[in-house]
Amino acid sequence: MAAQTEEQTEHTVRPFDLFQVTVKALQRLSPSFIRVTFEGDDLGHFADNGYDQRFKLIFPAPACGFDKMPTSERWYSELRALPEAEQCGVRTYTVRAVRRHLGEVDVDMVVHEAHSEDECGPALRWLREAAVGDRILLLGPDARWEGAHGGIDFHAPEGAEILIAGDETAAPAIAAILEDLPITARGKAFIEVPEAADVLELDAPVDVEVVWLPREGAAWGDKLVPAVAEAARAMDFAKQDDRAAGAAGLDEVDPVEDEMIWEAPEAVAAADAYVWIAAETGVVKALRFTIRKELGLPKESGAFMGYWRNGKAWD
Ligand SMILES: Cc1cc2nc3c(=O)[nH]c(=O)nc-3n(C[C@H](O)[C@H](O)[C@H](O)COP(=O)(O)OP(=O)(O)OC[C@H]3O[C@@H](n4cnc5c(N)ncnc54)[C@H](O)[C@@H]3O)c2cc1C
Repeated sequence: MAAQTEEQTEHTVRPFDLFQVTVKALQRLSPSFIRVTFEGDDLGHFADNGYDQRFKLIFPAPACGFDKMPTSERWYSELRALPEAEQCGVRTYTVRAVRRHLGEVDVDMVVHEAHSEDECGPALRWLREAAVGDRILLLGPDARWEGAHGGIDFHAPEGAEILIAGDETAAPAIAAILEDLPITARGKAFIEVPEAADVLELDAPVDVEVVWLPREGAAWGDKLVPAVAEAARAMDFAKQDDRAAGAAGLDEVDPVEDEMIWEAPEAVAAADAYVWIAAETGVVKALRFTIRKELGLPKESGAFMGYWRNGKAWD
């Protein structure tokens, strides 16, 4: 679908646009991951930017599906002005693969736990019932837009030693980043997943070591935080800059505050090391504290992103 304002006769190209899609296939990759393949006529112009390209899935409203879904340029504020039961759910996901010639997009969705219906957000509710032929909307990058789309947060400088880490929600982004890295890339990637059966086949450059960390019932971050902190210590960030520069902005580092964290510098300076971390917010905060405060990674050399918040719905 090319979303149009009522008065428009021709479509205005924007960096991100709404795409009307249906579920073509559902593939259970492991106990915690389902690959959803969407198809749609307009997906022929869904941009294939790779890396950790984020986009939105828009789920049907409980009371009326997509009947009240606004499509004007101000769709988001109009959506939020609707009564709650008429609002479509909006959640952020990572593009796992784009096949423009077939009009297809893949997304790997985590079947996360929910102890009650209250803990079950629109994405999980939809995924549990999803079937081939279901309609939803994507808000994704439009290939007809000639500028940068935005929504990519991995910006490692060429030649830098890289440290990538995340939990299962970041596994699709990490998989896509590893596939897109130059073959000369070097470093480590850590992925914490619920259980050993969630370890997936990934393509990575030979000098990037991929370490899977099955939680097997431990708390989020219990495996990831010590492993990533140890790897970070071995990288010795201070050598790339002096300690004072590395400590810049550390007053902002607070591992306990109860807010989402999103620190993803767009223009990364040339550096010896680069860090990309995405996971549950508390876990990311703990790692940011260690890596930036204790080890002195300069702010511009690291992306620290809360992909979800334990106990909070996140739109
Ligand atoms: C940039 C970005 C990219 C992302 N990419 C992906 C992706 O490719 N695949 C993917 O599966 N997720 C991805 N996520 C995470 C996804 O957006 C969240 O998990 C989302 O909150 C799920 O929505 P929901 O409707 O199920 O739950 P919400 O309505 O957001 O939350 C309801 C409850 O579920 C809990 N919850 C939410 N997610 C999880 C979880 N993973 N584990 C345990 N409890 C959870 C919340 O804490 C809350 O208590 C990404 C997030 C961001 C910001």
